Amino acid sequence: VNPIFANAGTSIFEAMSRLAAETGSINLGQGFPEGMEPAVLIDAAVKALQDGPHQYPPMLGLPALRQAVAENTKRFLDIDVDWEREVLVTSGATEALADTFLALLETGDEVIVFEPVYDVYALLIRRAGAVPVPVRLAPPHWELPREQLAALITPKTRAIVINTPMNPIGKIFDDEELAFLSALVLKHDLLVIADEVYEHLTFDGRAHKTLFALPEIRDRVVRIGSAGKTFSVTGWKVGYVTADAKLLAPIARAHQFVTFTTPPALQAAVAVGLRLPDTYFQSLKTDLELRRNVLVNGLRAAGFTVADAASTYFAIADISSFDPDGDDLAFSRRLTLEAGVTPVPISSFYGARDVTSHVRFCFAKKIETLEEAVRRLSRWR
Ligand code: PMP
Ligand code: GLN
Repeated sequence: VNPIFANAGTSIFEAMSRLAAETGSINLGQGFPEGMEPAVLIDAAVKALQDGPHQYPPMLGLPALRQAVAENTKRFLDIDVDWEREVLVTSGATEALADTFLALLETGDEVIVFEPVYDVYALLIRRAGAVPVPVRLAPPHWELPREQLAALITPKTRAIVINTPMNPIGKIFDDEELAFLSALVLKHDLLVIADEVYEHLTFDGRAHKTLFALPEIRDRVVRIGSAGKTFSVTGWKVGYVTADAKLLAPIARAHQFVTFTTPPALQAAVAVGLRLPDTYFQSLKTDLELRRNVLVNGLRAAGFTVADAASTYFAIADISSFDPDGDDLAFSRRLTLEAGVTPVPISSFYGARDVTSHVRFCFAKKIETLEEAVRRLSRWR
């Protein structure tokens, strides 16, 4: 048994979802939306299931979806993408990450990841034979520690993984930070793996920015997206990779031997989704903003210190006024049992589990659900 997975334990998302289900708590832990799936997408999937085909689609993905990914990238980011040579459909962003690490990393390569970090990166990087090198963003401002990052680059550094907009903290890397990263990438001859699954979930007029848009490094960036987030269907597991053909080709080889394809009916429906008019993408933002406001205002009224949630599904709450010892895991369990509201602890996004002052709440829920959560929190307090 390989120790990397054997010792990994149950993911915090699964663990907290289970605890919430067992105790009848409102699950604001694991990041998944409630009641937001666009009807046109469901209709398109139903029709595609009725009409077929039901057999293996092309290995790279349905042409309609690859074209739609390229069009969406042009429409929202003004980047030209060759859909035939630069787009690959995967079974979720998770498969895209696995394929990318398997294809691009060699034994002993070092890969920079930013903490708080999404749980799959470090494990998959290690299983691909490489070494994740964490660079820590710390509360309360979660700034990119530029000098520290630059100092951690060695001759073995092969790639930087960036997740923007960033789970769990909702940080959107700005132009200056991206320019800094781009200069490092060029100076040290690195690749970039850009997990941009929350690209369309930015609030209050903020814009998503991508390293893929910088011409000087475009051929070094692997950009990953997910229909799960863009269309509020996290169980569908349809993802996409966009990269220069020289990088995409080996990633597609990895995909060929990992899943080979993704269910065609879901691909067809996501193609319809990516071609929806701008109004869909605008209303996704405003809809989530509304939900965010209900939760963030409620958390503040209940005594939490909550930063402005700029993007993603998540609000981060400082728990120090309730838990001066700072044990975010114990606090998450306590809130579940005592208040009936379940967050996830931020420490689980740090390899050393030592940033314990914050928990994450998901606000992509029905307004009634959020209002009930807020009522429970104010009663608990
Ligand atoms: N990356 C990040 C940062 C995520 O939050 C998620 C969502 N769970 C994923 C990747 C995985 O996306 P998918 O469900 O499409 O595999
Ligand atoms: N990305 C989701 C989150 O951050 C969880 C996905 C999962 O459960 N693996 O909550």
